[in-house]
Amino acid sequence: MTHYDLFVIGGGSGGVAAARASATLGAKVGIAEGDKFGGTCVNRGCMPKKWYMYASMCAAEFEAAKSYGWDVEQPQFNWDRLKENTFKEIARLNGVYDTLLDGSGVEVHQGFAQFVDANTVSVDGTLITADKFMIAVGGKPFVPDVKGAELGITSDEAFHLEKLPKSILIIGAGYIGVEFAGIFNSLGVDTKLMFRAGRLMRGFDEDVREHMEKELTKKGITLIAATNPVSLCKHGENGIRLCCEHDYDWDVEQVMFTTGRVPNLDHLNLEATQVKRDERGKIIVDEWQKTNVEHIYAVGDVTNTNLDLTPVAINEGRAFADTHFGDNKRNFSDFVTPTAVFSQPPIGTVGLTEAQARETYKNIDIYRTSFRPTKYRLSDTLDEALLMKLVVDADTDKVVGAHMVGPEAGEIIQMLGVALRAGATKHEFDRTVGVHPTLAEEFCTMREKVSA
Ligand code: FAD
Repeated sequence: MTHYDLFVIGGGSGGVAAARASATLGAKVGIAEGDKFGGTCVNRGCMPKKWYMYASMCAAEFEAAKSYGWDVEQPQFNWDRLKENTFKEIARLNGVYDTLLDGSGVEVHQGFAQFVDANTVSVDGTLITADKFMIAVGGKPFVPDVKGAELGITSDEAFHLEKLPKSILIIGAGYIGVEFAGIFNSLGVDTKLMFRAGRLMRGFDEDVREHMEKELTKKGITLIAATNPVSLCKHGENGIRLCCEHDYDWDVEQVMFTTGRVPNLDHLNLEATQVKRDERGKIIVDEWQKTNVEHIYAVGDVTNTNLDLTPVAINEGRAFADTHFGDNKRNFSDFVTPTAVFSQPPIGTVGLTEAQARETYKNIDIYRTSFRPTKYRLSDTLDEALLMKLVVDADTDKVVGAHMVGPEAGEIIQMLGVALRAGATKHEFDRTVGVHPTLAEEFCTMREKVSA
């Protein structure tokens, strides 16, 4: 029987951060990982997604190059080379994680951990006890109960497809669906995006949602709103027929489900612990990441609080370590979370949407602008519009929300996150000189309110 101050279950973004930070602060820490260190983000999430996005965006770069006087022969895309280079780099990152854990003195147990009781876990037959357990097992794709659903793929398989399909229908228009729609479409795949609601990207600012629908349509993606799939069946030699409500059928080569994610509790035997979960199956934690069981904590996507994002899981894990082993009690509750969607065009957002701000504050000012990015002005074919929006509490002049759709939105919104965290007012945005000519300068030059 091995005993630790802290035993972490899951070696993804949150688990590794909590383990390393705690060990660095002097705790005796063990960690179990059943698959590869780095978790979803490194192995089947943020990182491969971003490289595939870069690959697909080259198409627009070749097009832009023409308008700048370059003659480019018909470029050829090689799917196998993209996969090979991506997974070579991921293998390197897995190695970096191993080295980092080793360097900070964390003891690694390779294998899935399962609770024997609330005070003991077993990893490959080794029994482990600990003063504190941290559950950081992340999530997995959710596939709805649709007849023939096994014919479709999820984001886990999308990176490994043997060949690029000629056509794809993506079901679910949250951020993962919209990102993959951009990737496949720009790589020349005939792409359709189907969603249950009347509009895509639930939870985002309404102007952003409307703008994205226009831009995705301009790029040739077919949007199929307010539709539910009923069944999938094989069709023709390599195809799939997707039958929908109202007797409508779609014939495509590939169907992909991006219909949300659920906690990955397959191996954990959580039932042995009495730890409570919410109606979505997520582990209920308080602002200190504590479950209802005194010595069991949880971070990241498996929990019912905060956004399911890598930097959120990491910061939750580090705050836990500081609180328990660093004599520095803190938690995630005073963080501001800027986020990006790596769609085409990309989205950046921080703070409140206009609708949320109207519910929270009495008087709201909105500043909004839309224009064609300078980079594409010389091109006849690249027709993309940009959107920028500031939401301001009119009584205090504080900027409470910033939203952008356009090139480098993720890079720009990161810095706006600092401004919002610092409580910047609209007056301070106005008193900051723009960097010219950039897109970001528009956030400092929006003078006219569009609605009150
Ligand atoms: P994970 O990273 O999922 O790690 C959990 C780990 O636990 C896994 O390695 C798993 O093998 C292991 N495990 C599970 N059960 C056990 C067990 N019983 N014993 C031992 N080990 C176990 N976030 C962003 O911030 N930006 C992005 O651009 C972004 N893009 C994404 C794109 C896609 C396609 C997906 C799917 C996700 C994306 N995310 C992104 C979300 C991000 O990947 C997650 O928020 C993040 O990985 C959550 O970290 P975690 O520590 O909670 O869990």
